[in-house]
Amino acid sequence: MSGRADLHLHTTASDGTWSPAELIQAVADVGLSCIAVTDHDTVAGVMEAQEAGREHGVEVIPGVELSVEHSGTEVHLLGYFIDPTDSTLLKTLSVYQSGRAQRIERMVQRLREHGCTITVDDVMVYAGDGSVGRPHVARALVQHGFADSVPDAFARWLGEGRPGYVPRDRLPLPEAIQLIHRTGGVAVCAHPGLLKATDLVESMRVYGLDGIEVVHSAHDLRMQQRFNVYAIKTGLARTGGSDSHGPGVKKGLYLGEYTIPLEWVERLKSRRRGKEQH
Ligand code: AMP
Ligand code: FE
Ligand code: FE
Ligand code: ZN
Repeated sequence: MSGRADLHLHTTASDGTWSPAELIQAVADVGLSCIAVTDHDTVAGVMEAQEAGREHGVEVIPGVELSVEHSGTEVHLLGYFIDPTDSTLLKTLSVYQSGRAQRIERMVQRLREHGCTITVDDVMVYAGDGSVGRPHVARALVQHGFADSVPDAFARWLGEGRPGYVPRDRLPLPEAIQLIHRTGGVAVCAHPGLLKATDLVESMRVYGLDGIEVVHSAHDLRMQQRFNVYAIKTGLARTGGSDSHGPGVKKGLYLGEYTIPLEWVERLKSRRRGKEQH
């Protein structure tokens, strides 16, 4: 599979089960030549992945997946070519990290009120010092027998509208796009097929969106075609990836199954260069 890229991958820095180094090993095993690490609201896994990437001859693009607020709903925004040492970026991300930790306390409290006697410590076993989220709660629920699997934990307890669900603070979209741009990055709408309203992407363009994810493990072929046509028509860059979280989190592993050609990566890069010239 040489000459293919996967620009949407998670590690133990957020809710994935592979460490950054293990991820790169898995990526090398399936023969991808370029990837991006896009953990939720953190860049803590980027540098370890880049180091492992140099050893394995895999190009690692620094990335992040921000949970942002737009028109009253949650949108996931991918940032690529961001500077993982930028102090403003790190400061903003750390604010959202502590918001995530407080939210987990409220979720555990609600779950306990419903008879799921897990503790915050049970969740933190899975989160470690990474960006804590619902998949970690899900794994604690499975371990203590309150769900059969991670997807089952979401269906019963953690999905929106279920008893353990607590929303979380989100960065407003315009600020999130600015944050990505100020460190020289490009901003991409993640899995647009999962958005509640399709006209949301159109309104994101107003704030300087650079691209959309055409290929994604939650997109069927029709969606892929639709977003491909839309990107070409509007001049948005096309990206894509598996959104693999490693073994045991989602229904499948997806690694190596949702890839894009390197030409798409080059075009994404040229958008970044275009920005630097301004
Ligand atoms: P959070 O950011 O804490 O709200 O958690 C969201 C994450 O949970 C997503 O990025 C997915 O990794 C995961 N997730 C969401 N829905 C499901 C589901 N039905 N089954 C398994 N994982 C899910
Ligand atoms: Fe996730
Ligand atoms: Fe996402
Ligand atoms: Zn993701």
